[in-house]
Amino acid sequence: MKIARVWATPLNLPVTVQAARGSKTTSLSVCLVSIETDTGLVGTGMTAITEEEVIGSIVNDIAAHHLVGLDPLRHEQIWERLYWLLTPRGQSGYASHAIAAIDLALWDIKGQALGEPCWRLLGGARDEVPVYATFGFAFFDRDELAAAAKAWVSRGFTRLKMTVGHHALARRDEPRPLDVVIAEDVQRIRAVREAVGPDVQIYIDANCSLDYFHALKLAKQVEPFDISFFEEPVTHNDIPNLQKLRAKTSIPLAAGQNEGLATRFRDLLVAQAVDVVQPNACISGGFTQCGRIAGMAAAFNTRFANGGAWPHHNMHLHAGLANGSLVEYHSVAVQCCELVFDDLPKPERGVLRLPEAPGLGFRPNPERLAELARRPGSRGAGKA
Ligand SMILES: [Mg+2]
Repeated sequence: MKIARVWATPLNLPVTVQAARGSKTTSLSVCLVSIETDTGLVGTGMTAITEEEVIGSIVNDIAAHHLVGLDPLRHEQIWERLYWLLTPRGQSGYASHAIAAIDLALWDIKGQALGEPCWRLLGGARDEVPVYATFGFAFFDRDELAAAAKAWVSRGFTRLKMTVGHHALARRDEPRPLDVVIAEDVQRIRAVREAVGPDVQIYIDANCSLDYFHALKLAKQVEPFDISFFEEPVTHNDIPNLQKLRAKTSIPLAAGQNEGLATRFRDLLVAQAVDVVQPNACISGGFTQCGRIAGMAAAFNTRFANGGAWPHHNMHLHAGLANGSLVEYHSVAVQCCELVFDDLPKPERGVLRLPEAPGLGFRPNPERLAELARRPGSRGAGKA
């Protein structure tokens, strides 16, 4: 079996979130990567949280020409070639996203070719995974946030994540003092805790939007609300600052969803800078590299979980590997996936059951994909 064609489809997807005082419309960018074999199998990978057009160009204009003719089952060979092609001096960034999407497409092909779901090929440690629901976004006011939290709990979710920081450092020229942002965050977290009671786990995620001083101040102020982890508290995932913060707060720290190379995770682990490492299969080099990172986490006895959303891809990793754990059921990202893919599993009472269908177990819907690729902001690229 050989790779016959590779093409990327950059998409800008519309999503609507219902809030107590009306709906909020936003959009998310993703880039699909499809690989077709000379036997007629088509695997589809995906990346996100990046510029989708750049990934489309990396795949269509550069990587595709190096992949045609290779054996799609040899994922180590192909990962290594892509590394030397796209990131030969240890660069990370866009290239890691592109490699991740290609790697996931190869694993989808491998599953189809062998008649097995990816999670079983990755090790089959369990056939269901616990999820946490990411529900709490900046566009909710305090009351809407509390109401949304209650609504998710009523749907059977006992683990909830909300954003904090809200791009504070990126917006500091407005001016928007960071202490004002985190003072409001404290009240938002209080409102959610009061709404859901003591038995629901609450996670917070600053998306690298704070400096050390304000991350520490926020952590100390919300410790009484029993926070299960504080994700990406400081800008750059700056390791010395994470290390200092971890020493000063009782809240577990988590990071890693947008890190590209395994060496960054090694450094986080050696520094004992986090309690939870969170490589994302759609960003951190696909299942191939995430498996290596999970192995390092196991050797350091450090938790390994999913951050950065895209639960339907990441569930395979966390079901497959022995130290797999929580998968992020990010409500906006899930809406995006539901626009694109058919046969996505839905969690029941906070648990996702893995599909038995070969490969990833879900496929893009060709008609809807063609429609979405024609949207403004989406440029569905041709087949390379
Ligand atoms: Mg995150």
